[in-house]
Amino acid sequence: HAKKSGKNRHVIFDGEHAERAERHFRIERALRTADFDKEIDIVFQPQFDLVRQTYVGAEALARWSNPLVGEIGPGQFIKIAEETGLIANITTTVLKKTIEARRKVDVGFPVSVNLSAYDLNSNQTTNEILDCLDQGNVAPEHIEFEITETAMMADADRATANLNRLVDRGHSIALDDFGTGYSNFNYLRTLPIHKLKVDRSFLENQADPMTERVLRSLVGMVRTLDVPCLIEGVEDQLDLVLAQRAGINLVQGFLFGRPMSIEALQAEIVRMESFESRAKSA
Ligand code: C2E
Ligand code: MG
Ligand code: MG
Ligand code: MG
Repeated sequence: HAKKSGKNRHVIFDGEHAERAERHFRIERALRTADFDKEIDIVFQPQFDLVRQTYVGAEALARWSNPLVGEIGPGQFIKIAEETGLIANITTTVLKKTIEARRKVDVGFPVSVNLSAYDLNSNQTTNEILDCLDQGNVAPEHIEFEITETAMMADADRATANLNRLVDRGHSIALDDFGTGYSNFNYLRTLPIHKLKVDRSFLENQADPMTERVLRSLVGMVRTLDVPCLIEGVEDQLDLVLAQRAGINLVQGFLFGRPMSIEALQAEIVRMESFESRAKSA
């Protein structure tokens, strides 16, 4: 069949691109018809304090399970959700579910929720976020928010104003993926930020002697902002050593815990505490 071989030729020539476009389209269609309340699940990844030797926080990460696209991670759908304007629904769903989980299981520390670039640039979405918090009667020290530098760039004045509405309610703000954006320090100084999260790409070339130097200078800059510093993507012992040598005391990564259910997180905390008390009595 001429038609079929023609199609095949096209697939060979441009197959990868076509496949990606098709996948993008399928995810977009699934997003438009999704029931986020039913389909989104939240997992929690612990954050560990190396000095106090205890968990001090957890990040809420979205997982989406949909009949059209299966189970996919945020790396695959957040960007498309932003492009299609559906991100606000996802943000409020994630926030509601995180509030619910944090109420059901008192882990004893704040849980952080990622905000997207579009959330703070919209007064309406910020209203909805504040409504969720008020309706859930949330203690501000229970929920922290993560933002990125790029999220603040589109309309910096509006984004900062909306960010300050969350801060005025008493919530802490962490700057996510630090070191991958512009890192304009004069600008960062104007933002209400309570924690910096160094991007995990800084640990990707651990064999490179530059890695340690780069981390050190990054931490030096962070000191001028006078906020605690966490590093993401600590996967093994060498990552941990690199973090410690750079003077970073807060870590998040597979070495300290994968993203897990709130119940599993609670069990992990209990396990850790009983280990500590056994260590003390020994
Ligand atoms: P992020 O906020 O920087 O979250 C950390 C990501 O790194 C998570 O991927 C986590 O599973 C992964 N990770 C943690 N430890 C390690 C490690 O040791 N090694 C490696 N290789 N990876 C590690 P995830 O869950 O796929 O999330 C990807 C990104 O999607 C997040 O990056 C965040 O920007 C975004 N995201 C996740 N949930 C939400 C959400 O509810 N709303 C919004 N707007 N964005 C979200
Ligand atoms: Mg994050
Ligand atoms: Mg990050
Ligand atoms: Mg690594």
